[in-house]
Amino acid sequence: MIYITYYNMLSLPDVSCYFQLDYLKRHSDKEISAGDKVIFMMLKSEKKESEVTAADIYPVATRGTIESIGDGWALIRTLGRVSLDSVSVNNGTFNAEVRSRSDIEDMDPALIDEKFQSMRSALLKTFKDTEWLPGSRNTIMRWTNINELVTFSSTLLQISNEDKYAILEEDSLRCRVEMMEKAFYESLELYKVNSEARSAEAKSNEQLYREQAIKRQISFLEEELDKMHPENITDVRKFEKKIADSGMNEIARAEAEKVLNRMRQEGKDGHEYGMLYDYLDFVTALVWKKEKVKKIDLKTAEKVLDSEHYGLEKTKRRIIEQIAVMALRKKQAGSILLFVGAPGTGKTSIGQSIAKALKRSYVRVSLGGIRDEAEIRGHRRTYIGAMPGRIMDGIRRSGSSNPVMVLDEVDKLVRDYGGDPSSALLEVLDPEQNATFTDHYMNVPYDLSDVLFVCTANSTDTIPEPLLNRMEVISFPGYSALEKFEIAKRHLLPKAMEKAGIGKRNLVLSDEAIKSIISDYTMEAGVRTLKNRLDTICRMAAVKIVRGESKRVSVGPEDLRDLLDMSPIRHDRILEEKRAGIVTGLAWTAAGGEILFIETMFTKGEGKLVITGQLGDVMKESVMIAVSLVKSLFPDKADLFKENDLHVHVPSGAVPKDGPSAGITLTVALASLVSGSPVKSSYAMTGEVSLRGALMPIGGLAEKLMAAERAGVREVFIPEENTDDLKDVAEATRNNLKITPVHLVTDVLKNVGIL
Ligand code: ADP
Repeated sequence: MIYITYYNMLSLPDVSCYFQLDYLKRHSDKEISAGDKVIFMMLKSEKKESEVTAADIYPVATRGTIESIGDGWALIRTLGRVSLDSVSVNNGTFNAEVRSRSDIEDMDPALIDEKFQSMRSALLKTFKDTEWLPGSRNTIMRWTNINELVTFSSTLLQISNEDKYAILEEDSLRCRVEMMEKAFYESLELYKVNSEARSAEAKSNEQLYREQAIKRQISFLEEELDKMHPENITDVRKFEKKIADSGMNEIARAEAEKVLNRMRQEGKDGHEYGMLYDYLDFVTALVWKKEKVKKIDLKTAEKVLDSEHYGLEKTKRRIIEQIAVMALRKKQAGSILLFVGAPGTGKTSIGQSIAKALKRSYVRVSLGGIRDEAEIRGHRRTYIGAMPGRIMDGIRRSGSSNPVMVLDEVDKLVRDYGGDPSSALLEVLDPEQNATFTDHYMNVPYDLSDVLFVCTANSTDTIPEPLLNRMEVISFPGYSALEKFEIAKRHLLPKAMEKAGIGKRNLVLSDEAIKSIISDYTMEAGVRTLKNRLDTICRMAAVKIVRGESKRVSVGPEDLRDLLDMSPIRHDRILEEKRAGIVTGLAWTAAGGEILFIETMFTKGEGKLVITGQLGDVMKESVMIAVSLVKSLFPDKADLFKENDLHVHVPSGAVPKDGPSAGITLTVALASLVSGSPVKSSYAMTGEVSLRGALMPIGGLAEKLMAAERAGVREVFIPEENTDDLKDVAEATRNNLKITPVHLVTDVLKNVGIL
């Protein structure tokens, strides 16, 4: 291996160049021959070869081979970039571990070639307009690719050493080409200006240089003064610098400079000064530069997800798939996941874990209750008190341009006179549009295409269709008592103890106590209240420890009532008595599943229908359908409805209930009433009913079955079309219940012994 160091030249892959044989011989301990390998190393500062140390060498270099050897010359062709590890230098002899470094091929070669052609034309034109070096046109015409052009013109055009190295180090082809173009054209311009200046030497030169020198001197003095009195840096100067350093796109920079100009004219006492200040403060706080795609190790990502969440296997698997796809496509964003489930089921916190797994920053934006489009897209600056929208505010809080952004409660957006916030959100989430998302306050586009969005919702019912179509729904059905126990033991309790400053030895919470908290002191699908209860216990224990009452607090189930200062929650359990007309149903609420009883009764009257228990319109319609169905199924009992008033009641009258899924329960309750045959209370059912007597599918099956299990139900009838959803139901629940999918109302009636 022949190591060659150089300071001022850039050498990129696919470049052919001639080297003096003597020079190469000095760097090799054997005879030079074709096929020998060469490493070109870039130096950080200009040094004699004998004085170079390992610290002077940049870690990315170029490898090449000797293609042929001629009379005193060798033709070397560079092949690719390499990373250098453990570089050692001994008296001008180099050694290093060389690993090849691959490009991210994210740019069409044809496009690169186009750029190369235009750069070459620009170069030819410049030389034509100024002075021609003999033969340089032919040399330029011999270059075959952009790398050759930049390599050879970099010295002539005086591209800075740092810029050259930044180009060499960049993995993404697209970014590298952009950097090459920028450096090339900028230095070409500079070259032109310089040569123009040279030719117009005569009179203006002196004045020009003088002016430049004075300007440089002023800015130098200003900087020195700023260093001495940082408190005196004026706002204008502060923002000038921030804008220059921000890496804003052209449009944003123009707008910021316009605002800065107004700030200059306005002066500190102007009444708009504050608003202008806030604007500049906001836009310069944003990260405008694109962040590089980080290498993700799937194993580590899996580990992060597993270490922070118990269970949720399906969700984690889906997330890993997403990460893998993103890695393959070298993209920072992918399909938009929508996590749907009751509060406290881990939706937000798994969003946070995704960010950790991807090693990206995390930000949560709450959308609950937003009625005004401007809350998402910002207010125009003409408004007094105008502010950026929540999306851009989130970006600022995240401190990066590619955070994982959790949009919480997308089902709670409200459409109102203030416009439709969901349509603004649609634009945010649309990969076709979000690269130029324009917040009204900022009034300039910002690229959101690298943001990974994750949405959460309690249910999909209120999410507008177009928004829902953009997202992939992943449901969080809630946890079984067993899962809650594991989550409490592995995650919630240790965290709660740490938060309260309690050491492992200071508190012993028995397993029985944890189980009792879950079953008697919480009623939820998630673990949010459970977490609060554990926090309370830890705080109470902390008080005892600090007061010196005890060094080691033990808590058993019997202590909970006092510690939590509440009586155990009474869950509805099935009633043991059997009476005709009463049937157990299953309901879905935001807190998970619950069982409910439908009670029906005839009273002397003339055919009136009385409904109580705060039923919504849909449920009232279900009552009508049930009445019609039962009349047709039991024609000989139709008179009962004429001679009596029918009363339908669903207990817990304070809780509003609606939805079609109680249809089957209502029908069976009525059938039981008219036929006089009671239904065993260990049966429960759920399903919408059609007038034909068919059972139609319902939502929230997993939650409902969990509630049935908890309440002591043995057998559940569900619509046949929900059979597929059973795979989302915990195995323990499936094993504890007899689940019978049915197609017709009459099937249920036969099964419960009415027909
Ligand atoms: P959501 O967003 O669904 O309302 P959160 O993400 O806020 O719920 O979760 C509430 C709490 O419960 C958080 O502290 C979270 O870490 C914890 N949690 C939820 N699910 C799990 C789980 N499977 N494993 C460990 N902790 C969990």
